[in-house]
Amino acid sequence: VTPQTIHVALGARSYDVLAAPGLLQRAGDAILPFAKSRRVFVVTDTNVHARYAQALTACLTAAGVAPIYFTLAPGEGAKSFPVLARLCDDLLAAGVERGDLVLAFGGGVIGDLAGFAAGILKRGVDFVQIPTTLLAQVDSSVGGKTAINAAAGKNMIGLFNQPRLVLADTAVLDTLPRREMLAGFAEVAKYGLLGDAAFFAWLEAHGAAVLDHSGPERLYAITTSIAAKARIVAEDEREAGMRALLNLGHTFGHALEAETGYGERLLHGESVAIGMIMAFELSERLGHCAPGAAARIAAFFKRIGLPASPRDVPGLNASPETMVAHMTHDKKNKDGRITLILARGIGQSFVTSDTPVAAIRDQWARAL
Ligand code: ADP
Ligand code: ZN
Repeated sequence: VTPQTIHVALGARSYDVLAAPGLLQRAGDAILPFAKSRRVFVVTDTNVHARYAQALTACLTAAGVAPIYFTLAPGEGAKSFPVLARLCDDLLAAGVERGDLVLAFGGGVIGDLAGFAAGILKRGVDFVQIPTTLLAQVDSSVGGKTAINAAAGKNMIGLFNQPRLVLADTAVLDTLPRREMLAGFAEVAKYGLLGDAAFFAWLEAHGAAVLDHSGPERLYAITTSIAAKARIVAEDEREAGMRALLNLGHTFGHALEAETGYGERLLHGESVAIGMIMAFELSERLGHCAPGAAARIAAFFKRIGLPASPRDVPGLNASPETMVAHMTHDKKNKDGRITLILARGIGQSFVTSDTPVAAIRDQWARAL
């Protein structure tokens, strides 16, 4: 399969995203132009290392590039000052220089941490992403947001730092746990729901194939998602305006994640799935959107195995007031008003800060 190329047009910071099954085996040649020093500092986690480090080493070595691995424990805990500090010290101890290349090889956690480290080491070392989760391939590896978490919330400390290249091997998703795959699929569906009704309808017909095997359906879903994100990021790199559309489902979702502790009980993508349905329900109730869209989305998510309501979250027992309080702490808010992404229909979302808090509270009261 010839890789599909999606260009992210950002002037001097432009780069390509390549996607294909088996791309990992060809990573050496793709990375070579960016590895001026002929060494790459690979940041990964133990799960990805165990499965794919051998293949990566083989193709890098064949291209004349030497990898040096920095392998972390998996999980969100890596997005912290202690782990960042240790990683930076380890990279410096290994002699990382301005002309070297950092390679983020893993899911969103690794991409966020390694991208941030690359941005601050010696005032900036180039980095390349090889995302290995569906969520990272369609979302976090493209667009240059990098961050660690703070006591005040997730992703509160970080940089816009664009990679030089992104390589999405759709076949490495074959080993991703089903639940992680489904969580990433919610972000894929998001691109249809926010701006592309035909893509959403296509996903309704082909979602099972996207999830089940690394065939043409999966590649199409991933490249369509990346292209949608690339278009939005090229228009609005630093989220002054329309990039906020990418937060569809995320304001409701973040409240659920905050309430459940950002852990195994509710994955990020699962919270987005529930949040998108709530955003459509609220849009219908406020008269922005014709009735039926929310029910259609919920039926699809249930059929493929995603949660579709806060009632699907095990052990959730919170009041509407508590959930609204979580939403008022969202970092996207301005002047204390809750910014939401609502919709006029499937594929027609918009940003608004005009929704009365009472209507949002009422939406939680119905959903919980
Ligand atoms: P996300 O990309 O959703 O932010 P993480 O970076 O936390 O998530 O990755 C989710 C989990 O999946 C981690 O435990 C990680 O080690 C594991 N993982 C990542 N890529 C793969 C893969 N291709 N196959 C199997 N497990 C993987
Ligand atoms: Zn998200």
